[in-house]
Amino acid sequence: HAKEAGRNAFRFYTERMNADAQERLDLHGRLRRGLEREEFILYYQPLVDLKSGLVVGAEALVRWQSPEQGLVAPGHFIPAAEHSGLIVPLGEWVLQEACRELVCWHAQGGRQFSMAVNISSIQFRRGDVEETVRRALAASGATPAALELELTESILIDGAEQVLATIKRLQALGVRLAIDDFGTGYSSLAYLKRFAVDKLKIDQSFVRDIVTDRDDAAIVRAVIQMAGSLELKVVAEGVETEAVAAALRAMNCDLVQGYHFGRPMPAAEFRRLIGVA
Ligand code: C2E
Ligand code: MG
Ligand code: MG
Ligand code: MG
Repeated sequence: HAKEAGRNAFRFYTERMNADAQERLDLHGRLRRGLEREEFILYYQPLVDLKSGLVVGAEALVRWQSPEQGLVAPGHFIPAAEHSGLIVPLGEWVLQEACRELVCWHAQGGRQFSMAVNISSIQFRRGDVEETVRRALAASGATPAALELELTESILIDGAEQVLATIKRLQALGVRLAIDDFGTGYSSLAYLKRFAVDKLKIDQSFVRDIVTDRDDAAIVRAVIQMAGSLELKVVAEGVETEAVAAALRAMNCDLVQGYHFGRPMPAAEFRRLIGVA
């Protein structure tokens, strides 16, 4: 019986593996078709200056308008896009689209607004990210200094020499660099100095509970102070309540992003928000 159960378990396991693999293949195929059929769109979440309360820019966040599933959040397809390599052309499309939108804002009097774009570590390593950024800037005519690339700590940690060279070339293009989800990766402080980035984005997992969790409050306060000493701008992500905003204000946090200030929204809605449409 044990043997048979083992065999059945094995068969069940392989069947499930096949089903998972098949599902992945299906998803890859649907993503590839989705890219061809232009089913991806960008949402824009306001980036707010905490002192003035003014919107100073946005982060572009990709969505997939899937014919089968409706509006799909990036958490459901970015990993598959990375796994299949599709993140390279998808990431290029995101950059092109975000730059076009930025140019619209600037052309209609919103010169002060910046645009942040997420760069996947796969895209950074496999794609020619510098060439991609150069092309997006050239095609749109966007101001390099108004474009900010959000890198994760995982990008900065591996292959340091080559990564450093790429980062220097990106900086030579005039674009800004931010470290996204700061604190969730290999939080080595050495690379903050080494890579000379412009901004830290404190991950929402540290920000969410600062009103009630003394440890989280201590961490966020320390990161804000450190960023200040290193002359880096700092953004607190995931600000959902006025109480959290008030606590961040008391900590002298520069910039915030979160549902309390605005959810990610379609381009037309964001244009109305900043008064360029
Ligand atoms: P992220 O770059 O850290 O973006 C912030 C995420 O937090 C967004 O989720 C945003 O909607 C969400 N968020 C903002 N404010 C709040 C808040 O107050 N509370 C809560 N609970 N969440 C908040 P989203 O749009 O689902 O994106 C998830 C992640 O997917 C992003 O995290 C980013 O890592 C990735 N992503 C999104 N767009 C792109 C893209 O174009 N390229 C790449 N490579 N990755 C992307
Ligand atoms: Mg981001
Ligand atoms: Mg983040
Ligand atoms: Mg994230």
